Amino acid sequence: MIVPRGTNFQRAASDSLHFSRAARMSQSQFEQDVQSVYDWVDAEVAAAEPRCEISGRCCRFRDYGHRLYLTRIEADILFRQPLPDEHDTPAHTEAAAVDQVCPYQKNGLCTGREKRPLGCRIYFCDPSFDERCCEITEEAISRLKQIHERHNRPWEYNQLSWFFAQRTCELSDGDPGCRVDSKS
Ligand code: SF4
Repeated sequence: MIVPRGTNFQRAASDSLHFSRAARMSQSQFEQDVQSVYDWVDAEVAAAEPRCEISGRCCRFRDYGHRLYLTRIEADILFRQPLPDEHDTPAHTEAAAVDQVCPYQKNGLCTGREKRPLGCRIYFCDPSFDERCCEITEEAISRLKQIHERHNRPWEYNQLSWFFAQRTCELSDGDPGCRVDSKS
């Protein structure tokens, strides 16, 4: 659409463009800051060298009594990684299914590895890593909270299944019957 120079409409459109550019910049800075926490965690974990048996147990939540908690921004980053096609179905992504096993796991491996949240980066079933795991978790959560404060973002922390339920609602295009109760 073409509008005459100097009109209120054009000024409003220009303001809105600047605003959306600023919002994109601030979102991208927010995500870069979150990535810096991921990078710090990856380096600390690599230095501690915990043993991983590639059993995939850590992603089978129900079998091993795990719950994966993460923040909204971690979920947003993870969801940019498409699920394996055969797992992108309600049978794999509804909350009850996600509470059993993460739909990103395929053949015992994580298909969302690059974008996986902090909990997945820090947790190992190696008991000799337990103490360091707690220390890294505490520091990582503290850094993440500071980043949320700095960027004035709400702290939304919940289980992976809850974020999957929200994603389903968003994909359902505002279905009024879609309701997500907090599980925290
Ligand atoms: S995102 Fe990857 S590492 Fe984390 S629970 Fe899912 S499959 Fe496992």
